[in-house]
Amino acid sequence: MTRKMLIAGNWKMNLTLPEARNLAEELVRRIGSVADVDMAIAPNFTVLYPVSEIIAESNILLSGQNLHEEQTGAFTGETSAKMLTAVGAQMVIIGHSERRKIFGEVDVLINRKITAGLAEGLTPIVCVGEDLSQREEGRAEDVVKTQVEGAFSGMDASTVSRTTLAYEPVWAIGTGKTATPDQAQDMHRCIRELLAGLFDKNVANNMRILYGGSVTPDNARGLMIQPDIDGALVGGASLKADSFEGIVKCRS
Ligand code: PEP
Repeated sequence: MTRKMLIAGNWKMNLTLPEARNLAEELVRRIGSVADVDMAIAPNFTVLYPVSEIIAESNILLSGQNLHEEQTGAFTGETSAKMLTAVGAQMVIIGHSERRKIFGEVDVLINRKITAGLAEGLTPIVCVGEDLSQREEGRAEDVVKTQVEGAFSGMDASTVSRTTLAYEPVWAIGTGKTATPDQAQDMHRCIRELLAGLFDKNVANNMRILYGGSVTPDNARGLMIQPDIDGALVGGASLKADSFEGIVKCRS
């Protein structure tokens, strides 16, 4: 089974309009025509449209960082799936650990957000991952299992097959501490087995499972050559064109 690698950059609440334009232009110059790896960037909402115009003719896809589960209405400060697709987004990050931890998002809400994204044709990148104390208590697999089951609750195999998962151990995000390739591979294999049990072998085999947590050009290759790791969700290293390029080209 060969799943095409996806490298997605999460710009979080970084980069003003001029900075975002510069980075997007630099990425188009450096990696815009890379074809053997799928690539996506998730800029802040305020710069989605200008970035969308800059990357339009390139192979770099556009992602939102979040969405609201309703289609429209009185939800001050929120952004709908349709608003994302209208500015050219093809993907959306859902359930990032910062959304879970800082903004209190729980699995039931994440499940509704996935449905809302899929309804507009977006590919949700659904984030799961344990925190440090959960890992130290030996509960990492159980925590991730509960998150995957909650995220996909009530969905059938064909629906789930339209999503991407990202395993992001919270203790590795923005900390400079990366899971070892073996630790990450073990969890990815465990998630794939879970998907086979919950849905079927096709879903398990076709689902892209990204790793996220302090991925850099230096550690990317060791992670990306693991059989069940199909790409990366990159935070800090996606804010510089050379490091994002290094990760995109880590297997070349
Ligand atoms: C992330 O926020 O999804 C992430 C993986 O961040 P970093 O690469 O900075 O650890």
